[in-house]
Amino acid sequence: MQAIVIDGDGDIWDEQRDRPEPAPGEALVKIRAVGICGSDLGLIEGEGPPWTNYPLVPGHEVCAEVVELGEGVEDLSVGDRVALHGFVYCGTCTPCREGRYYQCDDLQEVGFTIDGGYREYAALPAYTLTPIPDDISDLEATQIDSAACTLHAMKRVETAVTDTAAVLGPGSLGLYGVQLLHAWGVEDVILTGTRDERLEVGTDLGANRTVNVREENPVEAVREYTDGEGVDLCVEAAGAGDVVNTCLEITKKRGSVVLTGVFGGKKEIDPNHIVSKELEVVGGVTASHAVADVIELFRRGDLTVEGIVTHEFPLAEYDDALDTVRERRDGVIKGVLRP
Ligand SMILES: [Zn+2]
Ligand SMILES: [Zn+2]
Repeated sequence: MQAIVIDGDGDIWDEQRDRPEPAPGEALVKIRAVGICGSDLGLIEGEGPPWTNYPLVPGHEVCAEVVELGEGVEDLSVGDRVALHGFVYCGTCTPCREGRYYQCDDLQEVGFTIDGGYREYAALPAYTLTPIPDDISDLEATQIDSAACTLHAMKRVETAVTDTAAVLGPGSLGLYGVQLLHAWGVEDVILTGTRDERLEVGTDLGANRTVNVREENPVEAVREYTDGEGVDLCVEAAGAGDVVNTCLEITKKRGSVVLTGVFGGKKEIDPNHIVSKELEVVGGVTASHAVADVIELFRRGDLTVEGIVTHEFPLAEYDDALDTVRERRDGVIKGVLRP
């Protein structure tokens, strides 16, 4: 079978490997589709967790089909289509016992520290695979991870009085954020970013006001739009630039800030906003506790990948696919590989 491999020094190549055998507790799956995440591009350059095992097959936004079961697997059947959450954990440490297995002291992550989905077949722990109903498409299944990361983070805040919200960053996480906020009944959603074509997709998906931060000051624009009050909830989904300070500035007194972006380095912030406005600031890092909710939202039509998953490539064209995403060619937002 074909596998795409990286070494963390910028090199990427394909190689022929034997089809894996499922160990006890694992399922052998045929990968049907795998999303190209921004973090995959970082991994190619070596920006993974320090315990990443290079050479590595990247890919965690996986839709697959079960083709063989290892010993003792009872919750899956051959033929099931499944979505992956990539957390491989011990089950006995304190975070695991408290249900936060994505914070396991001995965490491995499929596609980050151990081989992921840029290949034709994979043998994966059965508990990382969630069967998906027939009315969820392969492309939607690849996006469960991204949408559920945003939702998990949003679920960490108190939102009983959310009328207005801002989403900073119109990448896939942010565009799912816009839809999720509407599904929550938030009336006014403001979306900020640097690219008009992505902001337009946000408008199509329900953003009530968009702000191109290259043309408008987002703090002033949000203040004006909210009559000087600021938003109840700010969802940061950019992981770049000065967005954290923007969040702290545009969120109203006693409001909430949710951080979901992965930042390449340290950022300077002004903590006085948090103190004086009594802001609640939380981070979120996993899809795991929101997977079932996101599947249901896709089924109900409250979530769509339309306009977000813009490109599909055969696995063999991985070079072109990664360049397209890296250089943001052709209006790409999310590219998907089809092994
Ligand atoms: Zn991802
Ligand atoms: Zn653990």
